[in-house]
Amino acid sequence: MIHDQPPAADVLPAKGCFIDNRWVPAVSGQTLPVSAPAEGRVFAEIAAGGREDVDRAVAAARAAYETGSWSRLSATERGRLLSRLGQLIEANFEELVALEARDCGKPLATARADITATARYFEYYGGAADKVHGEQIPFMNGYYVTGEREPLGVTGHVIPWNYPAQMTGRTLGPALAMGNATILKPAEDACLTVLRIAELAAEAGFPEGAINVVPGLGHEAGAALSEHPGIDFISFTGSPQVGTMIQTAAARNHIGCVLELGGKSPQIVFDDADFEAAVPVIVAAIVQNAGQTCSAGARLLVQRSAWDRLIPMVVERFAKLRAGKPEDTPDLGPIISAKQRERVAGYIASAKAAGLPVLAEGAVQEEAPEGGFFVPPVLFGPVPRDAALACEEVFGPVLSALTFEDEADALALANGTEYGLIAGVWTSDTARAVRLARRLRVGQVYVNAYGAGGGVELPFGGVKKSGHGREKGFEALYEFSALKTVVIKH
Ligand code: NAD
Repeated sequence: MIHDQPPAADVLPAKGCFIDNRWVPAVSGQTLPVSAPAEGRVFAEIAAGGREDVDRAVAAARAAYETGSWSRLSATERGRLLSRLGQLIEANFEELVALEARDCGKPLATARADITATARYFEYYGGAADKVHGEQIPFMNGYYVTGEREPLGVTGHVIPWNYPAQMTGRTLGPALAMGNATILKPAEDACLTVLRIAELAAEAGFPEGAINVVPGLGHEAGAALSEHPGIDFISFTGSPQVGTMIQTAAARNHIGCVLELGGKSPQIVFDDADFEAAVPVIVAAIVQNAGQTCSAGARLLVQRSAWDRLIPMVVERFAKLRAGKPEDTPDLGPIISAKQRERVAGYIASAKAAGLPVLAEGAVQEEAPEGGFFVPPVLFGPVPRDAALACEEVFGPVLSALTFEDEADALALANGTEYGLIAGVWTSDTARAVRLARRLRVGQVYVNAYGAGGGVELPFGGVKKSGHGREKGFEALYEFSALKTVVIKH
């Protein structure tokens, strides 16, 4: 739905597109409504950016990168700006927490953790900016050879709605640290903290054109950015369908991309595991952000000999889960939009209609607003291996429990989906944990823990349909830079 009328009095007006450190209205003059998921009503508008806005943003970034004041900063100066932005995020913490909670519907505690991590991304990459250096490469006599790390140029970034603030830090932090000039297309469903962070970046002293933000619809602003011949690299997080389009556009323009496309991550529990330690983590890993987390622990793989002891413990905890609005300290918030709620509710209804056993079901708090996009969490099991719930990403609070016989069976089951993002292994047998960690086809393995991709310092990304490339940690600095070899004859 596109608006060209002024918003109602209680609706936050659109700020525009953030280009060259200024808010400019979208060329179309139009805006998009943004709903508060816990309230089920429009509470803000954003600019409906499109192709011409992306053109302007790319031109601004190109100028900043080639000749502008961004190009003249040393790595240490870039690092200081990033650290300063992290400090400003901390200084505006409560405002950002409230905005993120309302925009995404997340419990306040989750929004607090998110904004803390956002500041930490800028702090981490601020500290790392001047620690990346080249190397001298031994070669034939008479030659002096170096490998030097260079920025890629102008980088495009398309992010989803599940962690708008964190993903801004995660993707812009390393790109800026390496000296790239950036254009970010946040998600139309939730991006108000992203717009606020752009303002804080200008306040921190980032020069014009280093950070540009063009909000808008995916098939308009997102497509325009990913297809733009003026960008040198693109980073995308979101659905595999759109990831394929982004990769195709990148191939046409002969540029690289990093894709993070979700998963169906397993939590593998052996009968020798510490169940007391495992159960709270297993439940939290599927209700975190109402299951709308790419690395949600969506499959609970239980050794058959452990089922009768483990499942009652999971059921007891799961049945107590309550969904509600951010201020009421619920276990989980609503789904991001009416459209996504339909999708999640559709998976649950189909599974029930197909006769899949429901082991436990949470509830929606009585105080939760009527119109909010709530879905009570559901635990299904035992789920057949070929059921949709065993293979497809639901992106909601739905946990599928399956059984396995032994280590080989667990490995085949864990690796048996199209995805490969992260995995959890619960066992007291260290040798077994090491064997599995080596053979699981994923980007991260947790043993007797599960981080749902958490940890600014930990390189993160997948294989197969979960995407490729790594963001987070030091590895992201290599992702957003290229090695140039310089050969000098002497
Ligand atoms: P999406 O992939 O459509 O949207 C993600 C981002 O891509 C948004 O900024 C969107 O505007 C943009 N986009 C959409 N179409 C585009 C296009 N043609 N070209 C360029 N950019 C485009 O995801 P969604 O519709 O918001 O959610 C659908 C499903 O995607 C979810 O159910 C879930 O399975 C998956 N998803 C995964 C993640 C993740 O973290 N990996 C995040 C959100 C959604």
